[in-house]
Amino acid sequence: MRYISTRGGIAPIPFKKAVMMGLATDGGLLLPQTMPRVDEPMLASWRGMTFPELSHAVLSLFIDDIPRQDLKELIDRSYASFSHPEVTPLVKKGEVYILELFHGPTLAFKDVALQFLGNVFDYLLKESGEKMNILGATSGDTGSAAIYGVRGKERINIFIIHPHKRVSAIQELQMTTVTDANVFNVAIRGTFDDGQAIVKTLFNDIPFKQKYHLGAVNSINWARILAQVVYYVHAALKLTGEGQKVDFSVPTGNFGDIFAGFLARKLLPGRIRNLVLATNENDLLTRFVAKGEYSLGKVVQTSSPSMDIQVASNFERYLYFLYDEDAERTSDAMALFARTGSLGFSEAEQEKIRATFLSETVSREKTLATIRDFFQRTSYVLDPHTAVGVGAALAHLDPSVPMVCLATAHPAKFGDAVQEAIGRPPDMPESFRGLENRESRCRVLDADGAQIKAFIENNAI
Ligand SMILES: *Cc1c(COP(=O)(O)O)cnc(C)c1O
Repeated sequence: MRYISTRGGIAPIPFKKAVMMGLATDGGLLLPQTMPRVDEPMLASWRGMTFPELSHAVLSLFIDDIPRQDLKELIDRSYASFSHPEVTPLVKKGEVYILELFHGPTLAFKDVALQFLGNVFDYLLKESGEKMNILGATSGDTGSAAIYGVRGKERINIFIIHPHKRVSAIQELQMTTVTDANVFNVAIRGTFDDGQAIVKTLFNDIPFKQKYHLGAVNSINWARILAQVVYYVHAALKLTGEGQKVDFSVPTGNFGDIFAGFLARKLLPGRIRNLVLATNENDLLTRFVAKGEYSLGKVVQTSSPSMDIQVASNFERYLYFLYDEDAERTSDAMALFARTGSLGFSEAEQEKIRATFLSETVSREKTLATIRDFFQRTSYVLDPHTAVGVGAALAHLDPSVPMVCLATAHPAKFGDAVQEAIGRPPDMPESFRGLENRESRCRVLDADGAQIKAFIENNAI
């Protein structure tokens, strides 16, 4: 299996190179050169597999340059850190199925991909004898999942910048209580956007980037998308037999998670019908599905902060498929978008979009009402991100097709919203207890690129 760029500017590369490249060198995103397809006999042989076994079967279709046994060990190690024996259990609540993706070390779905990515980096760096300094900015969730993905790894140091006192207390503690020697938390006196801008500047500083082997773990990395395909397949296998279909509802920000669902839909013969694209008031993507326009909006703060996004970094991958794998067209469209901040789509394209996706914007009030109503009916507590997905799912229910709602975070991560909705805080999982009493480490710096650069130079591996 080789990987190409959505913009057509690189020669096909193997998986290992694709993972290390992250963003394609022509500015595009990496995708498999051809999509594998799973036939019914193969699907039948996957039935009853555990999550790691299934992950090995699915990933083997896309990765042929890591020996099978090594890949198996990487996968087993990645999911041994999950607290639930089924890794991503599926539970029926009311009219819907909830796919619980939050049993990893930081209690959000990003662990599914970042535990794997951390182990893949570790494996590849050992093989090549190289080292890497990972740099990223976070508004909360991604930072802790990335830190847990690489903590204690010998050949990696990680620098995560968060806005000082502007992430929730739990999110801050989740990051700063990881005191492994290779983990460097930096709190800047500024906003998330300031942090993001500094990271961008440092990645554009080519001599610096090369000297320190700067690496990224953002959601455009192919290995992250690939790891997420597995839980769609896992759930679809549990709920469908030959000739049967299932719908998924996905709380969406950067389009990474739902794009994994799109690939799973391509991979499986006719098992996945609709993907419900659910957003909060940051409705760039629901406007895309409903109206056939993709245009920048202003970011507003909501009760589901990990989805407060107005440019969807993985969208280009879908665009490539919408344009029938035409890299030149994709490249032109992205250039047009960079110039004008908007893209339009023809009637035929809109029909194609709506043959796969349904969409729904769920307001803050509706999100809180969904948490409350769902709790009253089922005694199950949804986190606000998951509630956006459930709210959207309930608007698109079809009694003849099971609906799976992706639960992207544990409610305890967003206790304030839950408290507001149901009048009491969510139960605290074991791993959160006593977090505030643990040793923590964090450097507070000004939102100044030069200071951050010097800090990295002093602490790089
Ligand atoms: C990141 C995140 C999302 C959005 O996922 P995308 O892949 O960016 O669409 C949803 N919910 C939670 C809890 C998240 O952390």
